[in-house]
Amino acid sequence: METQIVTRSQELIELEDKYGAHNYHPLPVVLEKGEGVFLWDVEGKRYFDFLSAYSAVNQGHCHPKIIGALKEQAGKLTLTSRAFYNNRLGPYEKYITEYFGYDKVLPMNSGAEADETALKLCRRWAYDKKGIPENKAKIVVCEGNFHGRTITIISMSTDPDSFKGYGPYTPGFEIVPYNDIDGLSNALEDPNVAGFLVEPIQGEAGVYVPEDGYLKKAYDLCKAKNVLFIADEVQTGIARTGKLLACAHEGVRPDILILGKALSGGVMPVSAVLADDEIMLVIKPGEHGSTFGGNPLACAVAVAALEVVREENLAERAEELGDIFRSELKKIDNPMIELVRGKGLLNAIVIKPTNGKKAWDVCLKMAENGLLAKPTHEHIIRFAPPLVISREQIYEALEIIKKSIEEVYNA
Ligand code: PLP
Repeated sequence: METQIVTRSQELIELEDKYGAHNYHPLPVVLEKGEGVFLWDVEGKRYFDFLSAYSAVNQGHCHPKIIGALKEQAGKLTLTSRAFYNNRLGPYEKYITEYFGYDKVLPMNSGAEADETALKLCRRWAYDKKGIPENKAKIVVCEGNFHGRTITIISMSTDPDSFKGYGPYTPGFEIVPYNDIDGLSNALEDPNVAGFLVEPIQGEAGVYVPEDGYLKKAYDLCKAKNVLFIADEVQTGIARTGKLLACAHEGVRPDILILGKALSGGVMPVSAVLADDEIMLVIKPGEHGSTFGGNPLACAVAVAALEVVREENLAERAEELGDIFRSELKKIDNPMIELVRGKGLLNAIVIKPTNGKKAWDVCLKMAENGLLAKPTHEHIIRFAPPLVISREQIYEALEIIKKSIEEVYNA
């Protein structure tokens, strides 16, 4: 009699399939442990993590300092709600505002919530400060944007996978092409435009890096028209692209800054919106909030996560290792690699489908060879390892990538 061996991984995948909503299509790898740049599956196989939970784990998996802060705070106090003060929030607010150079912070949890907060802040500023007639404020956004999954956010998406079938949509957005200064300039002619929301590099769209100077020109246009420049740095921020913020590559200081993901080092959902008083104080008590936003556990974790970024020079590391990574990727001579692009340690390759093999097949092969990455938009593979990766590990990972693409190409 033939016995079928069911692995632990298979069992766990079946459980998710049977009891979980089918809103993701994961690679068939079941992970149970992480440390630094590595992840281990339930069979004990080790992988390089080249996704970092979409850049949430910039500080590396289970960073001892961040986990230490989590454990210490978890034993004392985790949540009070904002009905009361707590002893962690004020020091965190002081720390993060000084860290990024803003007057005020509004703490939230997920990236999408922080984006929503920024949109509300911008609209309210439009009515209270700019003098736009009630309900007429417009926010300009970019084609190919990704700001999360709420109804309002998908209302401004141009990706049918995000918005199709979820209408009616929230009005008040105008979409312009990304990396197109003339398109933005035309849109800003409308006096009811209150803000321009932009990702300094479009991560989910496939790591689209705009031309040098785009962000600065866009910022200057916004200033000329009294329009708020709102940067969604949920994915690009906190050292990922080789500077603390991707906007800093062009010396741009956003009017509203949106952060998430690596703000907790991937330990728990922590997001934030930063702005100066003139903007932030338009929201009054009781007008916006979140039960978990600013909870003492999140505050303790976020301070530790930001300290790690500074203490371990993660921005400088990302810049230096990113340059090496990209130039080595460009040297790989394989017809399946159509293009290499990125900044710091946020990079991508565009895969040319060959003999019916696509980016998904390359990712499966890389997983087999010990490296995890995920395709975005079918033909693009993003490479975003934790920023604590060493130079030797970068070279080791490059070997796996090269070998995997060759194996898929020759299969
Ligand atoms: N904004 C950007 C630029 C993102 O990349 C993401 C997630 O990938 C989000 C917002 C949404 O963040 P979250 O998934 O935490 O809601």
